[in-house]
Amino acid sequence: MNSVVPEKGRKVETVTLPSSSPGTTRQLNFIHYGTPGQGRKAYLQAALHADEIPGLLVIHKLIGLLDQAGENGQIHGHIVLTPVANPIGIGQQLLGELSGRYDHSNGINFNREHVELTEKISNKIENLLSDDENKNTRLIRETALNILAEMQPLNEVEALKNALAMNAVDADIVLDLHCDWQSTMHIYTGTPIWPEARELAAYLGAEVSLLAEVSGGNPFDEAMSGLWWALAKRFPDYPIACACMAATIELRGKADVDESLAEQDALAMFYYLQSRGVIGGQAPELPALRNPATPLDGVEKIIARAAGVVSYNKQPGDRVSPGDVVCTVFDVSEYDTEKARTELTASVAGVMYARRLDRLTRPGQVLCRIAAKESMPEQNGSLLSD
Ligand SMILES: [Zn+2]
Repeated sequence: MNSVVPEKGRKVETVTLPSSSPGTTRQLNFIHYGTPGQGRKAYLQAALHADEIPGLLVIHKLIGLLDQAGENGQIHGHIVLTPVANPIGIGQQLLGELSGRYDHSNGINFNREHVELTEKISNKIENLLSDDENKNTRLIRETALNILAEMQPLNEVEALKNALAMNAVDADIVLDLHCDWQSTMHIYTGTPIWPEARELAAYLGAEVSLLAEVSGGNPFDEAMSGLWWALAKRFPDYPIACACMAATIELRGKADVDESLAEQDALAMFYYLQSRGVIGGQAPELPALRNPATPLDGVEKIIARAAGVVSYNKQPGDRVSPGDVVCTVFDVSEYDTEKARTELTASVAGVMYARRLDRLTRPGQVLCRIAAKESMPEQNGSLLSD
């Protein structure tokens, strides 16, 4: 059941998700600016991990900016905003705490297992590709949309994932807004699209940009962008562009919710869309990128070896060198205070960009992460932590 309500140059499309329990229904709202099929398309969503709040305020601020741009006739493409991308997760309260990362019904991370389209698209296009790259882009987008439209989601979460993909899969730009525990601004994106994503990272002031071709688990951004480089590999005799620049933007830490930060971040995204011609007007000069991009499999995870209390010696954004103490774990059940103390050190040079929020450790927990230059695939089997 869809409805479209035009107001102030924006159209709000409402998708009602299938009910998962009697007497309840949830809705997804998509706000459209501009004309579908005209110019380039950008898709932005907030809080797919429903307990990651900064993006909600950033999209709210973007609505104000785009309303204004619409009044000024500056919307040259088609922009879709999903202000609350996960109405299921955002309702998951557990004893007064919002718990929106995993689906309570089965424990699956809401940003994993998004639709895998490469194989299905391949089967349908193998005899239809041509030497015209633009035609191939249109063919792949149409095919993807048809496949998604024909799917019959089994439950509310599958319907949610399907509806998000239906709005994003034909976009040139997809920005998925998240945040980390305590962290500095950083992004995840695909290695093949780094040339396109670089300017995004620069406008955002990202300290760290993490690159991978396949990061594992099929998160939303990669489900949208990765199919392009996978199809290009599958059909090397035909020109297939990386037609979707998708990135997961980590808007610092969970508590970094502040109106002026949200305005700053919304403007950075607005400028990026201007630089890509989705919005008219001249974007300000591109700031210098803070740090070169680094491989996702180069991230060093500092892991707790014992239960205890952790105290951090480094702040998110600090540069570290091999041998630097990044945190200290105190085994409070050991009364010899010398023995009780374990200092954990970096073994790489890089930026400590994120650390855990709670200060009680369990053995095996990742306490903080350091972005480093060199790949360490042997230490990074599964690239994304769940
Ligand atoms: Zn997240």
